[in-house]
Amino acid sequence: MYLALERYSRPASVEECLRILADPRERAAFLSGGTDLNAGGHEALTHVVDLQALPLGGVSVAGEVIALGARVTLGRVRREPALAGSLFGALREAAAAYAVVAVQNRSTLGGRVVVDRPDQDVPPALLALGARLRLAKLDGGRVVESVIDLPEGREARAALDGALVIEIQIPLGEGVSALRRFGRTAVDVPLATVAAARRGDAVRVAANQQGSGAGDLRRLRSLEALAASWSGARPSSWRADARAAALSDLAAYEDPWATGGYRQDLSATLAVRALAAVIGEPEIV
Ligand SMILES: Cc1cc2nc3c(=O)[nH]c(=O)nc-3n(C[C@H](O)[C@H](O)[C@H](O)COP(=O)(O)OP(=O)(O)OC[C@H]3O[C@@H](n4cnc5c(N)ncnc54)[C@H](O)[C@@H]3O)c2cc1C
Repeated sequence: MYLALERYSRPASVEECLRILADPRERAAFLSGGTDLNAGGHEALTHVVDLQALPLGGVSVAGEVIALGARVTLGRVRREPALAGSLFGALREAAAAYAVVAVQNRSTLGGRVVVDRPDQDVPPALLALGARLRLAKLDGGRVVESVIDLPEGREARAALDGALVIEIQIPLGEGVSALRRFGRTAVDVPLATVAAARRGDAVRVAANQQGSGAGDLRRLRSLEALAASWSGARPSSWRADARAAALSDLAAYEDPWATGGYRQDLSATLAVRALAAVIGEPEIV
C-alpha cells in the first residue's frame, strides 16, 4: 500500500523519468508491471513514475543480437516467435516458472532484473544466455546510455542504482539452453533455480539460491570449466565430476525454509540436470 504517495506521472521521455527518480525531494520508483511495486513494502514512496508511455515493449533483432524491451512481459516471452528456438529454452521456462498467468502477463523483464529478491527464475536464465543490459542514467544533468553485462554479484548491482533499464540484449546463434528449478508447489517461489546454455562446446551455468539475495546470482565457473575441458568426449564419471564442481561453486544459504546444506545439495542436483539437458545426456539415471 502506498501510504505516503503524493504524485503519479507517466512521462513520455527517458530524461523526465530519470529526473524524477533523481530528485532528492522525492522517494520515487518506476512502475512497470506493478507486480512487485503494487504488492506492498513501498509505503514510503512519494512518487510513482509509470513507464507505460515509453517505447520499451518491443522485440527486435539487429545483427547477432536480440533486444527485448524492458517492458516485455513474461507472458510475451513465452509466446514470442523470435524466442521460440532451442537457444531460448531456459528463458521460456523461467517466464513460465511461476505458474500464475495473471502475474506472468504483467510482470516485466525490467522488473525481474531490477527487483532485489533471490527467488527469481529469470536472472539465472539471462545470465546463462550472456545477456547484457542497455541502461540510461543521468550524468552531469545529461542522459547517458551504456551497455553492461547482467550484474553478477552484489557490487556489480550498484550499476543499476539510479538507472532505467531500456532493454535486455542477448547474443543470437546456434545453441540450446535449459532451466531446472525446485519449489514446493507450482505457485511457490523456488528454493533454487539453475540455468545452463550451450553454444558449441562453450557452456554457461548460472544459479539463484533462495535464502541468499539478488546479489548472490552467480555463474558456476568450475562447472563451466569442467564442461569445456571435455571437448565433446565426456568421461564416464562426468556426472559425479560435475556435481563436485557445482558444489564447489555453490554457497550454503540457510533460511527458515531449508538448511544451507539441503539447498546447496539441491542446487548441485539441478545444475547437473540442467547441464545434462544441454549436452544431450539423460537427466536421471
Ligand atoms: C502473486 C505474486 C507472486 C510473485 N512471485 C514471484 C516469484 O516467484 N519470484 C519473483 O521473483 N517475483 C515474484 N513476484 C514479484 C514480481 O512479480 C517480481 O518481482 C517482478 O520481477 C516485478 O516486475 P514488474 O514488472 O511487475 O515490476 P514493478 O513492480 O513495476 O517494479 C518493481 C521494481 O523494479 C523497478 N523497475 C521496473 N522496471 C524497471 C526498469 N525498466 N528500469 C529500472 N527499474 C525498473 C521499479 O522501480 C520497482 O522498484 C510475485 C508477485 C506476485 C504479486
